[in-house]
Amino acid sequence: MMFIVGLTGGIGSGKSAAAAQFSALGATVVNADIVARDVVEPGTQALQRIAEHFGEDYLLEDGSLDRAKLRSKVFADEKERIWLEQLTHPLIGMRIFELLNAELREDEAPYRILESPLLMETAQKDLTDRLLLIDVSEATQITRTMARDNNSEAQVKAIIAAQMPREEKRKLADDIVDNNGTLEELQRAILTMHDKYLNLSKTHDK
Ligand code: ADP
Repeated sequence: MMFIVGLTGGIGSGKSAAAAQFSALGATVVNADIVARDVVEPGTQALQRIAEHFGEDYLLEDGSLDRAKLRSKVFADEKERIWLEQLTHPLIGMRIFELLNAELREDEAPYRILESPLLMETAQKDLTDRLLLIDVSEATQITRTMARDNNSEAQVKAIIAAQMPREEKRKLADDIVDNNGTLEELQRAILTMHDKYLNLSKTHDK
C-alpha cells in the first residue's frame, strides 16, 4: 500500500501553499475539494439524484450544480445536509481512494498527499497513514483569508467558528508545520517534511 499523508488545516492556514510545495518536490497531491466537485459534474448519477431530490432549480443554466444555492439550503436544514452527505461522501471517498492508490509513476515521490479541509472531521482520515497540520494563529488566519477571498472579518470568523477548534486539530496531528512566518520559511519546513516522508515510506508496509 502507498504511504499517504493527510494535509489539513483551518481556512487560510496555508494548505494550498503547502500542497504546491509538496507537488514541486514530486509528490502527487489529491485535493478532496476538487474530487467533491468532480463527483457531481454534469452527467453524473449523483447530480441527477440531487436534481430529483432538491429540484431542477438547483442547477445552473449550463446544467452544472448551483453550489451556492445548495450550500445555503443544507446549511439551514440538517436533514437535507445528511441526505446530501450520505449521497456524496461515499462517492468522494471511493474516488479519493482510487486516486491515492493508483500505480506509482517513475517520476513520482514514493508517498502521496491527501489535501482536505475536512480530514480530521470525516472518514477521510482513515485513508491516511499520517496527519500533517498546517497551523497558524487565528489572527494570521483572519488576515490571510480576508486578503485572499475579499471577505469581511465577521465572515471569516464565522467560518472559523464552524470548523474544528485549532487545539483539537493540534492534538490529532502527527506533524505540525507552523506557517505564521514567510512563504520561504514554509517552503523550508515542507522540504523537511518531504525528507521525513521519503524515509517513512521506505519502512512503510508494502
Ligand atoms: P488554505 O488552502 O489553507 O485555505 P492558502 O494556502 O490558500 O490556505 O493560504 C491562504 C492565503 O495566505 C493565500 O492567499 C496564500 O497565498 C497566503 N499565504 C499562505 N502562506 C503564507 C505565508 N507563509 N506568508 C504569506 N502569505 C501566505
